[in-house]
Amino acid sequence: MTAFVFNEINFDDHEQVVFASEAKSGLKAIIAVHNTNLGPAMGGCRMWNYADEAEAVRDVLRLSRGMTYKNAVAGLPIGGGKSVIIGNPKTDKTPALFEALGEALERLGGRYVTAEDVGTSPADMANVASKTKYVAGLGDRGDPSPYTALGCFVGAQAAVKHHLKRDSFDGLTVALQGLGHVGYDYARQLKEAGAKLIVTDIDQGALKRAQEELGAEVVAIDAIYDVQADIYAPCALGATLNPDTLSRLKAKIVAGGANNQLATPEMGEICRQKGILYAPDFVINAGGIIKVCYEYLNTPEDGMVAHVRRIGETLAEVFARADAEGLPTSVVADRIAEARFKK
Ligand code: NAD
Repeated sequence: MTAFVFNEINFDDHEQVVFASEAKSGLKAIIAVHNTNLGPAMGGCRMWNYADEAEAVRDVLRLSRGMTYKNAVAGLPIGGGKSVIIGNPKTDKTPALFEALGEALERLGGRYVTAEDVGTSPADMANVASKTKYVAGLGDRGDPSPYTALGCFVGAQAAVKHHLKRDSFDGLTVALQGLGHVGYDYARQLKEAGAKLIVTDIDQGALKRAQEELGAEVVAIDAIYDVQADIYAPCALGATLNPDTLSRLKAKIVAGGANNQLATPEMGEICRQKGILYAPDFVINAGGIIKVCYEYLNTPEDGMVAHVRRIGETLAEVFARADAEGLPTSVVADRIAEARFKK
């Protein structure tokens, strides 16, 4: 293998990257600890059928670095890390696999705390927890998605206030993509606050429910980028802000829960030039990690909800600074994070 790790753009001074394997269970995992200046690194464990090991390394470095920025902007006393298990989550899962991961985390002595992510479940995390206490977001403590949805809602309120100079969603239309755990709950809050919903999803059941319960108008998957709306709310896939979609969107605000919404960092500047106010994904979708962090640290729940609501204030600060400095909101959010976690 040619040396690519230290030159990889997302390596970005990772403190530690551990390749963990265990023959009996077949575990092949990579644990990336990006930065622990603010506290132990926290971020989920993804299980994915990576094409090769290089792809897994790139993914874990990118995700781990992203967690440092997300956790820092959210004002949490934790750093950023992530782990990936190389394997097919549909066919390769066993309790022993996750127990072996737990043993690997135990050897790190608490520098990294894991949680569920794409391809892993609360049940898998229970197997991790049989070998280590460095695991958060266990099934019996509840789903973080409603808190991610609440963060999106207060974030959208802040965006509407800043960009449209309005205090309510009355008369506004939201084009929402993805009615899953986050998207449906976010859609419900928008509807209750007076917004009209135009939605899309690949799941016909979710669409029917949104039509019946929320009075939403349903459009085809690709049509969501062309509808007349005030807010575009991506809650399904990454990279939906790209040259094609940005030339089609009518919305002047992007406020949604999906991760990695910008196809490339330059898309932040294109949003700015087009007069689209982009609520940076890692700021607006931090409600779930706030919930998981509070649980892990055993901090009382009432403070947690107030902390999630502060996402609105953080975004208001990001928007004001971006205007004042003539910068994309994504760049301002990065700078706020770096001022907190960089020594
Ligand atoms: P989910 O799997 O519950 O929901 C995703 C929804 O998107 C599903 O209803 C799915 O059918 C739909 N979908 C898939 N492909 C689509 C397409 N091409 N067009 C339209 N809809 C499509 O996931 P979730 O937990 O709601 O998370 C949604 C997004 O938010 C993801 O990007 C996730 O990484 C991010 N996120 C989630 C949380 C959380 O707390 N769950 C926290 C932070 C970020």
